[in-house]
Formats: sequence, structure tokens, C-alpha cells
Amino acid sequence: MLPDVMVRATAADGHIRLLAARTSRLVESARRRHDLYPVAAAALGRSMTGALLLAQTLKENEHVTFRLLGDGPLGAVVADADGKGGVRGYVKQPHVLLPLKPNGKLDVGRAVGDHGIIAISRDLGREGPYSSSAPLVSGEVAEDLASYLATSEQVPSAVALGVLVGRTQRVVQAGGVLAQLMPGGHGYAQDLEVGMQRLGQVTERLSEGLGPEDLLRLVAGTLPVVVHEECPLRFRCHCSRHRIELVLQLLSTEDLQDMLQRDQGAEVRCQFCGKLYHLDTERLTHVLDLKARKR
Ligand code: ZN
Repeated sequence: MLPDVMVRATAADGHIRLLAARTSRLVESARRRHDLYPVAAAALGRSMTGALLLAQTLKENEHVTFRLLGDGPLGAVVADADGKGGVRGYVKQPHVLLPLKPNGKLDVGRAVGDHGIIAISRDLGREGPYSSSAPLVSGEVAEDLASYLATSEQVPSAVALGVLVGRTQRVVQAGGVLAQLMPGGHGYAQDLEVGMQRLGQVTERLSEGLGPEDLLRLVAGTLPVVVHEECPLRFRCHCSRHRIELVLQLLSTEDLQDMLQRDQGAEVRCQFCGKLYHLDTERLTHVLDLKARKR
């Protein structure tokens, strides 16, 4: 499998912003960590790729939380990306099985649901977090993200996201493209539309051996492209023993004492990456002490 990478470029003298990512490895990593069934892997993979693309429109060290809260059986899909190419995520119900669509594709729209919201939170560091949401359009993720960007952020955007799951249920290809019209770029709307049609299915292009930069050039067509940056992408979680202990302090004293006396410790699994933390009686007593001190 080729390395995961993001390419940032502009076209038409900066009037179009172009971002493309190959995310096959990190989506496969998420599938293994969470034991995702194919349609869950596709929904989370598209969402993680979308979050990474959005995070690249921000400055470094800022991060994006991407939530799909639909009425489908997956429950909720959450992806969290930083501007340095790191992403993590989970789905509420990873073991969802649905029949394929008539065209043979995974029914992500039905798994997510088409009633509900797409909610995006951008943490802009000093300026504090900014959250906004839009109604889901189809639950297919790319359409929902494009609609969110057009309505909530007023940036005309075209989005393509794809995850190809193989016969062995492993993720074979994953990636995405985000193309946006910058201020003054409205004259290029038609070029963008034609360019996205030329691109077609991202996973098909990746399977043909095209890389992220090729995808961007395919969208740009004859418009001149300037590539600004290429950065590696990977699955990265920020959890730590310390953070887990902070979360445990939010539990009631009774619950903590119960864990201490009955279970002689606690096992806590990070929902973002699946890592299991074991706290022995000593650590759990320490958590209780910290909680008592905060009172
Ligand atoms: Zn974690």
C-alpha cells in the first residue's frame, strides 16, 4: 500500500483551492482498531478524509471535529483531524450490515441516514472553537460536506470522497478531493463542475495508479496548477493515561469506590483509537484523591 499523503495546491491564479488526499492506510488502521464492518469503514473513512481535507484549509495546530449525526444504524460518526496530518475517529455502532445498493456499492447513505445533521467544530486556537451545522443531504458524506460548506461557511465547494473495501473486508483504497472557489473565483464555477465530472470516482482513479497530485491536475484540466505542499497523513490519537484519569474524575465518588472495591481497578478503552488502559487500585485511589481535593 502506498503511503498516505495530502497535496495542497491552487489553480487559476489562486482562484481555486485544490486539496487531495490518499488515506488508504489510515482508514485500514481505523477498520482494524474498531473492527469496523464494511459500511462502517466506508462511512468513517470518508469522514476522516473529509476532516483531514477541512483541517488543511486552516493554519497549523488548529483542528477540526467532524460529526455526522443521522438517523441510520451507525448512530454517530465522529472524526477529529489536526492541521499536521493526524486524524482519529470512531462510529457508535461498528457492526452494521446492510445490503449493497443496486449498483453494487456500500449503502453509506442508509447506514448514516439522511435525516440529521453534519456538525463541524473548528478549534482556531486563540480565537476559541467555532461550531456550525447543516442538515444532512443524503448521508453519503461528500454531498453533506459540500452542502455544509456552501450553506454554513458560504464557500462554494466540490467534494469527492471514497473508500473501497476489498473482498477480505480490508480497506484497499481511500482518498478524497476538496475544490473550493476563492473570493473572486466565481467565473470558474463551470470549470470546477466539469473538472469534478472528469475526476469521477476517487477510488477508481487511485486503483488506476493515480496519486493525489494527479487527481488535482485531473480536476484542474487545462487551468494552470501551482502545488504548494505535500504532507504525510496518519492515524494519530491524543489519548494518554493522564487524560483517561481526568475523564474518570468526572464519575461519581460512589462509582469510583465501587470499581475500587468490587473490581480492584478499572479498564477504560479510548473510544477514538481503541487503546485499553488498565488502572490498578493504586491509580484508582489516586483518581479518588484528586477528585476529593477538587471539591
Ligand atoms: Zn486514543
